[in-house]
Amino acid sequence: MTPPEHVDLMVVHGLVLTMDAVGTRHDDGAVAVRNGRIVAVGPSEELERRFVASRTIDAHDQAVLPGLIDTYTHAGHGLVRGLFHPVHGWPAGALYWHATSPEWWRAEARLAALERTRCGVTSAVVIVGSTPARVDEPAYALAVARAHADAGLRVVVGVGPPDPLFPHLDDAWHATRWDATGPTRVPFDYESALAVSLDVIHTLAGGDGDLARGCLAPPYLFGRHVAHKLLPRRFPTASDAASIGREAERMRSLADDLGVLVHTHMFHGSVAYALEHLGADATAAILGPDVVIAHANGLAAAEVDALGSAGCSIATVPTTHENLWYGFAPMLDLRDAGAVVTISSDGAAPYRSLDLWRDLGSATWNMWHRHHDQAVMAPESVLRMVTSDAARALGVAHERGSLECGKCADLVTVDLRAPHFTPLTSLEYQLVHFGSGADVHTVVVAGEIVKRGEVFTNMEPDTVRAEAVDESRRAFERAGIDTIDAYRWR
Ligand SMILES: [Zn+2]
Repeated sequence: MTPPEHVDLMVVHGLVLTMDAVGTRHDDGAVAVRNGRIVAVGPSEELERRFVASRTIDAHDQAVLPGLIDTYTHAGHGLVRGLFHPVHGWPAGALYWHATSPEWWRAEARLAALERTRCGVTSAVVIVGSTPARVDEPAYALAVARAHADAGLRVVVGVGPPDPLFPHLDDAWHATRWDATGPTRVPFDYESALAVSLDVIHTLAGGDGDLARGCLAPPYLFGRHVAHKLLPRRFPTASDAASIGREAERMRSLADDLGVLVHTHMFHGSVAYALEHLGADATAAILGPDVVIAHANGLAAAEVDALGSAGCSIATVPTTHENLWYGFAPMLDLRDAGAVVTISSDGAAPYRSLDLWRDLGSATWNMWHRHHDQAVMAPESVLRMVTSDAARALGVAHERGSLECGKCADLVTVDLRAPHFTPLTSLEYQLVHFGSGADVHTVVVAGEIVKRGEVFTNMEPDTVRAEAVDESRRAFERAGIDTIDAYRWR
């Protein structure tokens, strides 16, 4: 009889949902891990015979799934929660550009990493700020990336210049740098913002470990063609097509050269504009599986077909005001057209947390509503939109998104002893409609345990929260924001 092989970690006696191509499930299953990678998945009895582990996690009464992947979120938002007013909006943009320091971004990112770890979100795309990303200097994006890597989480930070036509910024592009000497005005333009973005991407590509990477995040690759209730701007016209096309092609070639994603917003009218003014071939050449489309609300049939046939990835946002303004993202039409459709939180504010579980039921309801049919959105397919399909959307399906041999050991266990899992009649259904971050027990990233019960390996929650409170107070003071009064709903 061959002696058992040594592994670093083994998770045993769990209800393992592998999310592999055929949906393999092990009712009394186990996962064996060595050097951060899965070396075996199968029945506990078999794996306990084949392997001896330095550390064993008993996952009795727990479900074992791949770590969740959030394909679209924002840094900064975690420190402005609750500051939203339906008429005045919220202070995000002005605060981020004119009242924050790298320490503020680090504190916010550590708070976000704590929330993600708590909820089992092991990978996330994080736009550095609201729209657009703050890229007057690289320090802010690097602070966000490093805070996540230090927490042991995977992050893709989104950086890119503001949209020339819809910058979401006041005139005379400038930021304010805050350091020990006080505030300094930092003027910047499209080219300097792009140069800082490329600098961040290069720095992270060359960094140690593969937890933090960058991607290009031009806010509106094909322009924005829907009104923003709070930001009146002109819509692109035919005369803007040449510059929009030129910058879109530039993003395309930069992404090809750097091997990074393009993460951008599209709503009703974006693709139609490109098809009309750039032509179908040029539009298709710019698009592709490495282009991640955020929101995709209210797309017309021809736009769905163009994104689907290009195999684009879609980060839909189930709980967003754009649903009210432009209609839902046509998730199932996009999927049927060939796009890779995911569910994202777009967190962590003004009314969305980083607890991605909350969005699974909402996404299902949105599509039941849209199709007037409760037979759509099978629970397993919904779970794939934050695991295996989300990994495909980020171009890392060969590495993550399912529990299979050779892949990175990114996994979570969910405690099934809660009333909402009792009796356990349909795990996938109950996870989608009743599961939440509070049910997550153990979180493993690259074979490292980052959370076990209420113990966080790389963070001390009270310290993280205290730093966040300190830095947010400093920023509100710099911005002269009286948080209590300014955003009170009368
Ligand atoms: Zn957003």
